[in-house]
Amino acid sequence: MYFGNGIPANYYLVSSGQNVVQLAGALDVAAHELTHGVTSSSSNLMYLNESGALNEAFSDIMSTAVEFYFQTPGTGRGQADYLLGEDAFRAFRPGSINGIRSLENPRAFNQPDHYSARYTGREDNGGVHINSGIPNHVFYLAIEGGSDRTSGLTVQGVGAANREQIEKVFYRAFVFLLPSNATFSTARAATIQAARDLYGATSAPVTAVTQAWTAVGVN
Ligand SMILES: [Zn+2]
Repeated sequence: MYFGNGIPANYYLVSSGQNVVQLAGALDVAAHELTHGVTSSSSNLMYLNESGALNEAFSDIMSTAVEFYFQTPGTGRGQADYLLGEDAFRAFRPGSINGIRSLENPRAFNQPDHYSARYTGREDNGGVHINSGIPNHVFYLAIEGGSDRTSGLTVQGVGAANREQIEKVFYRAFVFLLPSNATFSTARAATIQAARDLYGATSAPVTAVTQAWTAVGVN
């Protein structure tokens, strides 16, 4: 596998104000790309429109899970968080921030956190790196709880200590249950089913996942 080398020190991207170090220096970037291999060998989600955004989201979700498995939670370099690529895309110009996407606050990187704000144009294969913010936020809310910034609806998360439950729910749904033409609505049904399969119909993960999809406007 070949990863980008980034850009020289003391240079920055005009669009984001970030310097970029070698991409292989970010654990979540490597895990994101490897998860695309898992997807292409399992659900084979079509890389277009909503199925493509689910494909992207699963790579972001599993790369976040990998960080929390190998790293200590925190905001520093080499620590686990809900940001993507934060160890490679580094704030340089004053006012810029680390990373390229956030599962905790998709809007911080111009992604929607609610279905009503989804991108419906043709760029980026129908917004696969844009609308991934919606299922990404479901994963975050089902774990940590809190409210969606657009709908204001609140989610009872399973809590950080039980993060692995939601990781397993998403893994089961995306690897074993989703068809290649899945929509966000299909993913809602599949993750709720996976939570039932793993933890029982009246379990906390079922409640968390259901409330999280509702909070982002996917029913
Ligand atoms: Zn990707």
